Amino acid sequence: MDDGLNIIVCIKQVPETTEVDIDPETGRLKREGVAAVVNPFDEYAVEEGIRLRERYGGTVKVLTMGPPMAEVALRDAVAMGCDEAWLATDRAFAGADTLATSYTPGLCIKKMAPYDLIICGFKTTDGDTGQVGPELAEHLGIPHICYVNEIHNVSNDHIIVTRMLDDGFETLEAPLPALITVTKEINQPRLATLRGRIQARNAEIRTLKSEDIGGNTSKFGLEGSATRVIKVFTPEPPAGGEVVEGSPEELADRILELLVECKVI
Ligand SMILES: Cc1cc2nc3c(=O)[nH]c(=O)nc-3n(C[C@H](O)[C@H](O)[C@H](O)COP(=O)(O)OP(=O)(O)OC[C@H]3O[C@@H](n4cnc5c(N)ncnc54)[C@H](O)[C@@H]3O)c2cc1C
Repeated sequence: MDDGLNIIVCIKQVPETTEVDIDPETGRLKREGVAAVVNPFDEYAVEEGIRLRERYGGTVKVLTMGPPMAEVALRDAVAMGCDEAWLATDRAFAGADTLATSYTPGLCIKKMAPYDLIICGFKTTDGDTGQVGPELAEHLGIPHICYVNEIHNVSNDHIIVTRMLDDGFETLEAPLPALITVTKEINQPRLATLRGRIQARNAEIRTLKSEDIGGNTSKFGLEGSATRVIKVFTPEPPAGGEVVEGSPEELADRILELLVECKVI
């Protein structure tokens, strides 16, 4: 780590609102005319990358796969302080499910090497699967740790972090290179400065197309997707239900009865 850490942060551009219509024919999000922003959880990933560079030296490269307009998200990350911006964009990458989405950035990252640490958000606000980070690590054959809320130390060959679980915290060590996904508890993302914004406006965006990254083209985009959206719908709220009335003690007794009846407890 004499030259510092080689960090790659993966970000996704998402619609600014969660109220996005779905095309009933294709099952895809209708993104036309909807303002787009950096996935809010990825801002924590960018911030953590920059903080690690400030602590250990090195470079922070930011990568996204998306349409040409995703360049705007990359410029936002450069405005915060990333050193290099990489955009994977090609018609062949379109329509990807999470398997194909992680395959393509995996090839890009091999092009962007060397890398010690890859940082992702723990999920996006649109697809919301949280699958891309771990799948990316599998494609690269490196260890991953999800839901990281604190990085304690990074040395020449390993990283020590704490991650959040449903019922507590776990401190883990992984050899480098490794991938982590971070939660919003890890930091408070900085706002871009005016100077940063000006630099970002002129920053070079390194574009990667299908022919630049090699790999098996049948694993890209819709063709490489193992899943298909058959139907997208909002579930009907369950009908009926029982309104319980009475004193606090009666309410507690009846609710307990119902929970036992429904085998919830
Ligand atoms: C059959 C099918 C078809 C689809 N077709 C389309 C389509 O045509 N257009 C479309 O926009 N979506 C499409 N999707 C949705 C698409 O699969 C997801 O948006 C994408 O795989 C990312 O998943 P996610 O949003 O759940 O990310 P998550 O797994 O929740 O993301 C976790 C983290 O991974 C990283 N990450 C995620 N996506 C990217 C990215 N693109 N580049 C870099 N880093 C990233 C970020 O750090 C993010 O915080 C389709 C999904 C399916 C199942």
